[in-house]
Amino acid sequence: MHEIVDVTFELKTYEYSEPFRIANNVENKANNIEVRVYLKDGTIGIGEASSSYRVNGEKVPALFALQDTVKEMIAGEDVGNYRRIFDIMDGFSRTAPSVKAAVQYATLDALGVVMGIPVYQILGGSKSKIHTDKTIGIDTIDVMVEKARKTFDEGFKTLKIKIGENLKEDIKKMVAISEATPGASYIVDANQGYTAKMAIQFAQSVYAQNVNVAVFEQPIMWNDLDGLKLLRYNSPFPIAADESAKTRHDVYTLIRNECVDFVNIKLMKSGLSDALSIVELAKTTNIGLMIGCMGESSVGINQSVHFAAGTGAFAYHDLDSHMMLKEEFRGKFKQEGDALIPNV
Ligand code: MN
Repeated sequence: MHEIVDVTFELKTYEYSEPFRIANNVENKANNIEVRVYLKDGTIGIGEASSSYRVNGEKVPALFALQDTVKEMIAGEDVGNYRRIFDIMDGFSRTAPSVKAAVQYATLDALGVVMGIPVYQILGGSKSKIHTDKTIGIDTIDVMVEKARKTFDEGFKTLKIKIGENLKEDIKKMVAISEATPGASYIVDANQGYTAKMAIQFAQSVYAQNVNVAVFEQPIMWNDLDGLKLLRYNSPFPIAADESAKTRHDVYTLIRNECVDFVNIKLMKSGLSDALSIVELAKTTNIGLMIGCMGESSVGINQSVHFAAGTGAFAYHDLDSHMMLKEEFRGKFKQEGDALIPNV
Protein backbone atom coordinates (compact mmCIF):
# COMPACT_ATOMS: atom_id res chain seq x y z
CA MET A 1 0.00 0.00 0.00
CA HIS A 2 2.57 2.54 1.10
CA GLU A 3 5.34 1.53 -1.21
CA ILE A 4 7.11 3.99 -3.45
CA VAL A 5 6.20 3.67 -7.12
CA ASP A 6 7.76 6.84 -8.56
CA VAL A 7 10.27 9.59 -7.76
CA THR A 8 10.44 12.89 -9.66
CA PHE A 9 12.90 15.81 -9.58
CA GLU A 10 11.80 19.29 -10.67
CA LEU A 11 14.08 22.31 -11.03
CA LYS A 12 12.81 25.39 -9.15
CA THR A 13 14.61 28.70 -9.47
CA TYR A 14 14.05 31.36 -6.82
CA GLU A 15 15.47 34.88 -6.98
CA TYR A 16 16.80 36.56 -3.86
CA SER A 17 15.00 39.83 -3.05
CA GLU A 18 18.47 41.38 -3.02
CA PRO A 19 21.93 39.88 -3.60
CA PHE A 20 22.98 37.91 -0.51
CA ARG A 21 26.64 38.48 0.29
CA ILE A 22 28.81 36.41 2.62
CA ALA A 23 32.63 36.23 2.85
CA ASN A 24 33.94 35.72 -0.68
CA ASN A 25 30.56 34.76 -2.16
CA VAL A 26 27.39 36.41 -3.49
CA GLU A 27 24.11 34.66 -4.32
CA ASN A 28 21.47 36.10 -6.65
CA LYS A 29 19.29 33.04 -7.05
CA ALA A 30 18.74 29.57 -5.65
CA ASN A 31 18.42 26.66 -8.09
CA ASN A 32 16.65 24.06 -6.00
CA ILE A 33 15.40 20.60 -6.86
CA GLU A 34 11.93 19.71 -5.64
CA VAL A 35 11.67 15.99 -5.01
CA ARG A 36 8.40 14.07 -4.98
CA VAL A 37 7.91 10.46 -3.98
CA TYR A 38 4.67 8.86 -5.14
CA LEU A 39 3.17 5.93 -3.25
CA LYS A 40 1.03 3.15 -4.70
CA ASP A 41 -2.08 4.54 -2.98
CA GLY A 42 -1.57 7.98 -4.58
CA THR A 43 0.03 9.67 -1.56
CA ILE A 44 2.72 12.22 -2.44
CA GLY A 45 5.67 13.20 -0.24
CA ILE A 46 7.60 16.39 -0.98
CA GLY A 47 11.18 17.39 -0.24
CA GLU A 48 13.61 20.00 -1.51
CA ALA A 49 17.33 19.92 -2.26
CA SER A 50 19.09 23.28 -2.06
CA SER A 51 22.56 22.31 -3.16
CA SER A 52 25.84 24.05 -2.49
CA TYR A 53 28.97 23.85 -4.62
CA ARG A 54 30.84 26.00 -2.11
CA VAL A 55 30.15 23.68 0.84
CA ASN A 56 29.19 20.30 -0.64
CA GLY A 57 30.82 20.38 -4.07
CA GLU A 58 27.39 19.81 -5.61
CA LYS A 59 26.32 20.99 -9.07
CA VAL A 60 22.64 21.03 -10.04
CA PRO A 61 22.95 19.23 -13.41
CA ALA A 62 24.90 16.39 -11.78
CA LEU A 63 22.28 16.10 -9.03
CA PHE A 64 19.46 16.20 -11.53
CA ALA A 65 20.97 13.28 -13.41
CA LEU A 66 20.44 11.12 -10.29
CA GLN A 67 16.65 11.09 -10.64
CA ASP A 68 16.35 7.70 -12.35
CA THR A 69 19.07 6.13 -10.21
CA VAL A 70 17.38 7.20 -6.99
CA LYS A 71 14.03 5.97 -8.29
CA GLU A 72 15.51 2.60 -9.18
CA MET A 73 17.14 2.31 -5.74
CA ILE A 74 14.09 3.09 -3.58
CA ALA A 75 11.13 2.01 -5.73
CA GLY A 76 9.21 -0.78 -4.03
CA GLU A 77 10.24 0.25 -0.52
CA ASP A 78 7.45 0.96 1.97
CA VAL A 79 7.78 4.44 3.55
CA GLY A 80 6.83 2.83 6.88
CA ASN A 81 10.23 1.14 6.71
CA TYR A 82 11.85 4.52 6.31
CA ARG A 83 15.17 3.44 7.83
CA ARG A 84 15.76 1.24 4.81
CA ILE A 85 15.34 4.27 2.55
CA PHE A 86 17.56 6.38 4.84
CA ASP A 87 20.27 3.71 4.66
CA ILE A 88 20.08 3.53 0.87
CA MET A 89 20.36 7.33 0.58
CA ASP A 90 23.37 7.34 2.94
CA GLY A 91 25.34 6.18 -0.10
CA PHE A 92 25.03 9.75 -1.40
CA SER A 93 26.42 11.41 1.77
CA ARG A 94 29.60 12.64 0.07
CA THR A 95 28.35 13.14 -3.47
CA ALA A 96 24.79 14.49 -3.23
CA PRO A 97 23.90 15.28 0.40
CA SER A 98 21.16 17.76 -0.52
CA VAL A 99 19.42 15.15 -2.67
CA LYS A 100 19.83 12.65 0.15
CA ALA A 101 18.13 15.16 2.47
CA ALA A 102 15.26 15.83 0.07
CA VAL A 103 14.54 12.14 -0.59
CA GLN A 104 14.76 11.24 3.09
CA TYR A 105 12.42 14.09 3.99
CA ALA A 106 9.97 13.34 1.17
CA THR A 107 9.82 9.78 2.55
CA LEU A 108 8.83 11.04 6.01
CA ASP A 109 6.45 13.57 4.48
CA ALA A 110 4.62 10.76 2.68
CA LEU A 111 4.62 8.65 5.85
CA GLY A 112 3.17 11.58 7.78
CA VAL A 113 0.33 11.90 5.28
CA VAL A 114 -0.32 8.16 5.48
CA MET A 115 -0.28 8.16 9.30
CA GLY A 116 -2.24 11.41 9.55
CA ILE A 117 0.37 13.10 11.76
CA PRO A 118 2.90 15.85 11.04
CA VAL A 119 6.53 14.92 10.45
CA TYR A 120 7.73 16.70 13.59
CA GLN A 121 5.72 14.18 15.61
CA ILE A 122 7.24 11.24 13.75
CA LEU A 123 10.60 12.73 14.81
CA GLY A 124 9.62 13.00 18.46
CA GLY A 125 7.36 16.04 18.83
CA SER A 126 9.74 17.64 21.31
CA LYS A 127 8.68 21.26 20.69
CA SER A 128 5.57 22.74 19.12
CA LYS A 129 7.28 26.03 18.29
CA ILE A 130 10.80 27.25 17.53
CA HIS A 131 12.28 30.73 17.09
CA THR A 132 14.47 31.73 14.18
CA ASP A 133 17.10 34.40 13.79
CA LYS A 134 17.40 36.57 10.69
CA THR A 135 20.57 37.13 8.70
CA ILE A 136 22.27 40.41 7.86
CA GLY A 137 24.53 39.90 4.83
CA ILE A 138 27.83 41.68 4.29
CA ASP A 139 27.38 45.32 3.31
CA THR A 140 28.67 48.75 4.34
CA ILE A 141 28.67 49.46 8.06
CA ASP A 142 25.75 51.93 7.74
CA VAL A 143 23.57 49.51 5.79
CA MET A 144 24.30 46.62 8.17
CA VAL A 145 23.54 48.70 11.26
CA GLU A 146 20.27 49.93 9.73
CA LYS A 147 19.20 46.43 8.68
CA ALA A 148 20.09 45.05 12.10
CA ARG A 149 18.06 47.75 13.83
CA LYS A 150 15.04 47.17 11.57
CA THR A 151 15.21 43.38 11.94
CA PHE A 152 15.51 43.59 15.73
CA ASP A 153 12.53 45.99 15.82
CA GLU A 154 10.54 43.44 13.76
CA GLY A 155 10.91 41.01 16.68
CA PHE A 156 13.95 38.94 15.75
CA LYS A 157 15.86 38.72 19.03
CA THR A 158 18.78 36.81 17.55
CA LEU A 159 20.57 38.35 14.58
CA LYS A 160 22.97 36.45 12.38
CA ILE A 161 25.73 38.77 11.24
CA LYS A 162 27.90 37.91 8.25
CA ILE A 163 31.52 39.06 8.40
CA GLY A 164 34.90 37.72 7.29
CA GLU A 165 36.17 40.05 4.55
CA ASN A 166 37.93 42.75 6.61
CA LEU A 167 38.96 42.23 10.24
CA LYS A 168 39.21 45.88 11.33
CA GLU A 169 35.95 46.84 9.65
CA ASP A 170 34.23 43.74 11.04
CA ILE A 171 35.14 44.72 14.60
CA LYS A 172 33.74 48.22 14.02
CA LYS A 173 30.59 46.77 12.46
CA MET A 174 29.94 44.45 15.41
CA VAL A 175 30.39 47.20 17.98
CA ALA A 176 28.10 49.56 16.02
CA ILE A 177 25.43 46.89 15.51
CA SER A 178 25.58 45.99 19.21
CA GLU A 179 25.11 49.62 20.22
CA ALA A 180 22.13 49.97 17.84
CA THR A 181 20.34 46.80 19.05
CA PRO A 182 20.67 46.59 22.83
CA GLY A 183 19.41 43.25 24.19
CA ALA A 184 19.90 41.33 20.94
CA SER A 185 22.12 38.27 20.74
CA TYR A 186 24.33 37.61 17.77
CA ILE A 187 25.45 34.62 15.81
CA VAL A 188 28.52 35.90 14.01
CA ASP A 189 29.51 33.96 10.89
CA ALA A 190 32.80 34.62 9.10
CA ASN A 191 32.33 31.79 6.57
CA GLN A 192 36.02 30.75 6.69
CA GLY A 193 37.21 34.29 5.91
CA TYR A 194 39.77 34.54 8.72
CA THR A 195 42.92 32.83 9.85
CA ALA A 196 42.95 31.50 13.43
CA LYS A 197 45.01 34.49 14.56
CA MET A 198 42.54 36.95 13.00
CA ALA A 199 39.59 35.12 14.56
CA ILE A 200 41.19 35.27 18.01
CA GLN A 201 41.80 39.00 17.55
CA PHE A 202 38.19 39.54 16.49
CA ALA A 203 36.72 37.61 19.41
CA GLN A 204 38.93 39.21 22.05
CA SER A 205 38.43 42.71 20.66
CA VAL A 206 34.60 42.64 20.48
CA TYR A 207 34.43 40.88 23.87
CA ALA A 208 36.42 43.75 25.40
CA GLN A 209 33.88 46.12 23.86
CA ASN A 210 30.93 44.31 25.48
CA VAL A 211 29.44 42.72 22.37
CA ASN A 212 27.24 39.74 23.26
CA VAL A 213 28.23 37.07 20.73
CA ALA A 214 26.23 33.91 21.38
CA VAL A 215 28.06 31.82 18.80
CA PHE A 216 31.09 32.55 16.61
CA GLU A 217 30.60 30.42 13.53
CA GLN A 218 33.24 28.90 11.25
CA PRO A 219 35.72 31.77 11.33
CA ILE A 220 38.44 29.73 9.63
CA MET A 221 38.91 27.14 6.88
CA TRP A 222 36.89 23.95 7.25
CA ASN A 223 39.95 21.71 7.26
CA ASP A 224 42.02 23.71 9.77
CA LEU A 225 41.28 21.57 12.81
CA ASP A 226 44.40 22.71 14.69
CA GLY A 227 43.33 26.32 14.09
CA LEU A 228 39.82 25.62 15.34
CA LYS A 229 41.16 24.08 18.54
CA LEU A 230 43.55 26.98 19.10
CA LEU A 231 40.70 29.43 18.53
CA ARG A 232 38.30 27.52 20.76
CA TYR A 233 40.65 27.79 23.73
CA ASN A 234 41.45 31.46 23.06
CA SER A 235 37.97 32.79 22.34
CA PRO A 236 35.64 34.05 25.06
CA PHE A 237 32.73 32.97 22.82
CA PRO A 238 31.58 29.48 21.86
CA ILE A 239 33.04 28.36 18.52
CA ALA A 240 30.76 26.64 16.03
CA ALA A 241 31.60 24.50 13.03
CA ASP A 242 29.50 24.80 9.89
CA GLU A 243 31.54 24.15 6.74
CA SER A 244 33.71 21.74 8.82
CA ALA A 245 30.69 19.70 9.93
CA LYS A 246 28.92 17.84 7.15
CA THR A 247 28.66 14.14 8.00
CA ARG A 248 28.43 12.40 11.38
CA HIS A 249 32.06 11.36 10.86
CA ASP A 250 33.16 15.00 10.46
CA VAL A 251 31.43 15.91 13.71
CA TYR A 252 32.91 12.93 15.54
CA THR A 253 36.38 14.04 14.43
CA LEU A 254 35.73 17.66 15.48
CA ILE A 255 34.51 16.63 18.92
CA ARG A 256 37.30 14.10 19.48
CA ASN A 257 39.88 16.74 18.61
CA GLU A 258 38.29 19.35 20.93
CA CYS A 259 37.70 21.74 18.02
CA VAL A 260 34.18 22.99 18.76
CA ASP A 261 31.66 24.13 21.37
CA PHE A 262 28.82 24.18 18.85
CA VAL A 263 27.83 22.49 15.62
CA ASN A 264 25.62 24.05 12.97
CA ILE A 265 23.59 21.19 11.50
CA LYS A 266 22.12 21.71 8.05
CA LEU A 267 19.97 19.04 6.48
CA MET A 268 21.50 20.01 3.12
CA LYS A 269 24.94 18.92 4.35
CA SER A 270 23.91 15.85 6.34
CA GLY A 271 20.49 14.63 5.30
CA LEU A 272 18.13 13.53 8.06
CA SER A 273 20.06 10.37 8.91
CA ASP A 274 23.40 12.03 9.69
CA ALA A 275 21.62 14.98 11.31
CA LEU A 276 19.92 12.53 13.71
CA SER A 277 23.30 10.95 14.53
CA ILE A 278 24.89 14.36 15.10
CA VAL A 279 22.08 15.29 17.49
CA GLU A 280 22.86 12.23 19.63
CA LEU A 281 26.63 12.75 19.38
CA ALA A 282 26.26 16.34 20.55
CA LYS A 283 23.96 15.38 23.43
CA THR A 284 26.38 12.68 24.52
CA THR A 285 29.34 15.07 24.56
CA ASN A 286 27.62 18.27 25.77
CA ILE A 287 28.21 20.10 22.50
CA GLY A 288 25.69 22.83 21.65
CA LEU A 289 23.62 22.70 18.48
CA MET A 290 22.18 25.17 16.05
CA ILE A 291 20.38 24.44 12.79
CA GLY A 292 20.92 26.41 9.60
CA CYS A 293 20.01 26.45 5.93
CA MET A 294 21.35 26.96 2.41
CA GLY A 295 18.98 28.61 -0.08
CA GLU A 296 15.84 26.65 0.68
CA SER A 297 12.40 27.93 -0.22
CA SER A 298 9.60 27.45 2.31
CA VAL A 299 9.32 23.85 1.02
CA GLY A 300 12.90 23.19 2.10
CA ILE A 301 12.78 25.24 5.29
CA ASN A 302 9.70 23.20 6.20
CA GLN A 303 12.00 20.17 6.47
CA SER A 304 14.23 21.86 9.04
CA VAL A 305 11.30 23.31 10.98
CA HIS A 306 9.85 19.83 11.46
CA PHE A 307 13.29 18.34 12.17
CA ALA A 308 14.15 20.99 14.75
CA ALA A 309 10.76 20.92 16.48
CA GLY A 310 10.65 17.14 16.43
CA THR A 311 14.09 16.60 17.94
CA GLY A 312 13.99 19.74 20.10
CA ALA A 313 17.77 19.67 19.99
CA PHE A 314 18.70 23.19 18.97
CA ALA A 315 19.67 26.24 21.02
CA TYR A 316 19.52 28.46 17.92
CA HIS A 317 17.59 28.23 14.67
CA ASP A 318 18.82 30.00 11.56
CA LEU A 319 15.95 29.12 9.25
CA ASP A 320 15.40 32.28 7.27
CA SER A 321 16.37 31.63 3.63
CA HIS A 322 12.72 31.51 2.50
CA MET A 323 12.31 35.06 3.83
CA MET A 324 15.11 36.18 1.51
CA LEU A 325 13.67 34.58 -1.64
CA LYS A 326 10.85 35.72 -3.89
CA GLU A 327 8.35 32.88 -3.54
CA GLU A 328 4.83 31.88 -2.71
CA PHE A 329 4.80 30.33 0.79
CA ARG A 330 4.20 26.56 0.68
CA GLY A 331 5.49 25.31 4.06
CA LYS A 332 3.53 23.04 6.39
CA PHE A 333 4.19 25.48 9.20
CA LYS A 334 3.00 28.88 10.33
CA GLN A 335 5.17 31.90 10.89
CA GLU A 336 4.39 34.49 13.57
CA GLY A 337 7.18 37.03 13.95
CA ASP A 338 10.28 35.00 14.74
CA ALA A 339 8.22 31.93 15.70
CA LEU A 340 7.98 28.95 13.34
CA ILE A 341 5.11 26.62 14.27
CA PRO A 342 4.77 23.25 12.55
CA ASN A 343 1.19 22.46 11.45
CA VAL A 344 -0.48 19.82 13.59
MN1 MN B 1 27.59 29.34 8.34
